[in-house]
Amino acid sequence: MATMTGLVLAASLAACGDAGSDEENSVDVDVSEDAAESFDEGTRMRELAEQGTIKIGVKFDQPGIGYKGATDEVPTGFDPQVGTILAASLGIAADDIEWVETISANRESFLESGEVDLVIASYSITDARREVVGQAGPYYVTGQQLLVPADSDIAGVEDVQGQEVCSVTGSTSLDNVAAEGAQPRGFDTYSECVDQVRDGTVAAMTTDGAILLGYAAEDPDNLKVVGDPFSEERYGVGYSIDAPEMCGWINETLEESFDDGTWEEAFNNTLGVSLDEAPEPPALDPCA
Ligand code: GLU
Repeated sequence: MATMTGLVLAASLAACGDAGSDEENSVDVDVSEDAAESFDEGTRMRELAEQGTIKIGVKFDQPGIGYKGATDEVPTGFDPQVGTILAASLGIAADDIEWVETISANRESFLESGEVDLVIASYSITDARREVVGQAGPYYVTGQQLLVPADSDIAGVEDVQGQEVCSVTGSTSLDNVAAEGAQPRGFDTYSECVDQVRDGTVAAMTTDGAILLGYAAEDPDNLKVVGDPFSEERYGVGYSIDAPEMCGWINETLEESFDDGTWEEAFNNTLGVSLDEAPEPPALDPCA
């Protein structure tokens, strides 16, 4: 299903060619003082606010969404900035966030084991995932497309029937493209998959348009994003299913960031570097 968000973003990032290169982890947030007292005793938010640190799982190899180069101290991208907004409402400053790399396949297990407190990692909300973890949101909506060599004739998913298309194990993207009739090849990370496109091992790579545009913008001479979005990916914030009270706090904090401009600022700093306007924030799912 085509979303306007995906299409507008597709057009503007492709035109800009600069996604994710100069961004900073710098959304301007008020770190609440005395945050702990505003949460009930026994809630996970109270515990986190009292301990003054939080572990947030993000991607490290997706420019514009979640990226940390070898010499970078902290990851940049829309997801880390959303994490910074959430942490601030617990009274936790950006410097006190512990960023943990999550890949697509370990997001549920990292939440289940407590390796991370939150996952904000291009993490689509699905019914299957909501069986094992909590997912609040969505805070962003994109759709699945294809990344191909700049000189490829492939124009959309109808052109990759029976052909090898790579994506990442544990993602919605791999299942979706198989259902569209391509031969899926799963890798651990999108950066491994994009290398297969560059060396011609696969016909295309597929995942969310917002992710593909980041790669294309870094290498516009060799890569392009094609086709209408053929899925709807609603990015949620993952939390432990044992702490259902986190849903209300996440939704409330996201809603505040939609209203006070910090969500828009985070978007403009990262995915929207070239957008005149950030998209309308999505409607949040009610908590169960
Ligand atoms: N948003 C999709 C998912 O959550 C694809 C991107 C990713 O693997 O992070 O599976």
